[in-house]
Amino acid sequence: MLHRHLPGFIEVICGSMFSGKTEELVRRLKRAQIARQKTQVFKPVIDNRYSSDHVQSHDANRIGSRAVDKARDILKLVDDNTRVVGIDEAQFFDESVVDVAQKLAYRGIRVIVAGLDMDFRGLPFGPMPKLLAVAEQVTKLSAVCVVCGNVASRSQRIAAPQGSESTRILVGAKDLYEARCRFCHEPDADAAMQATLPMSLGVSVAPPADEAEQRA
Ligand SMILES: [Zn+2]
Repeated sequence: MLHRHLPGFIEVICGSMFSGKTEELVRRLKRAQIARQKTQVFKPVIDNRYSSDHVQSHDANRIGSRAVDKARDILKLVDDNTRVVGIDEAQFFDESVVDVAQKLAYRGIRVIVAGLDMDFRGLPFGPMPKLLAVAEQVTKLSAVCVVCGNVASRSQRIAAPQGSESTRILVGAKDLYEARCRFCHEPDADAAMQATLPMSLGVSVAPPADEAEQRA
C-alpha cells in the first residue's frame, strides 16, 4: 500500500572523509527527535571503528544506531511508528540499499543516507551513485585539502595497514586518510612512502595529468 499522504523521501549526505557527513546526519536526526518524530539509525556491521551501537563521527557526536549485516535487514527492523530512518556509511552496503531506501520512502518515511561518494582512488563508491540518482535531495559536503588548503573532495589514503592492500573496505580514522582536493589527490600513491614524508615538504602537489583526463 502506498502512503501518498505521507512525506516519504530520500536525502543523501555525501562527500569525502572529514567533510562532516556524520555530523550532518546526527544534526538532522536530532532535529527530528526534537520534533518528537521517532528515529532509527542503521549502519553496516563493517563500521566498527568506535562503537557497535552508535553512529559516531570523528568529532564524537553520537546517536544510538543499530549495525546490520545486510541492507535488507533494515526493512524488517524499522518500527511501524518510525518517521525518520538514518543510514550511515551507506557506501559499505550492497546495491540492495537503494531498493531499501526506496521502499522506506514509499512507506512515508524520511530516509537520510550518509556515505562516501568516492573511494580512496577517487572512484564512485558502491551503491552511492544510485542513491544519489534516486534521492529527492542531495547534500555534497567538502573538507579542506591538507596539502594546499583548497576545497577537498577526495579521501587520500596515506598508510596501508598490513594485509589490507587492495581492499577499499578499509574503515579508517584520521591516521589512515586525509582530505585532499582533486589536484593534490594521488589515487596510486605509494602508501609506504606517503606515510614517511611530511606533508610540509609539498611532495604531492603535482596533479596526475592523465588521471584527470581519464575522469573527464
Ligand atoms: Zn590540494
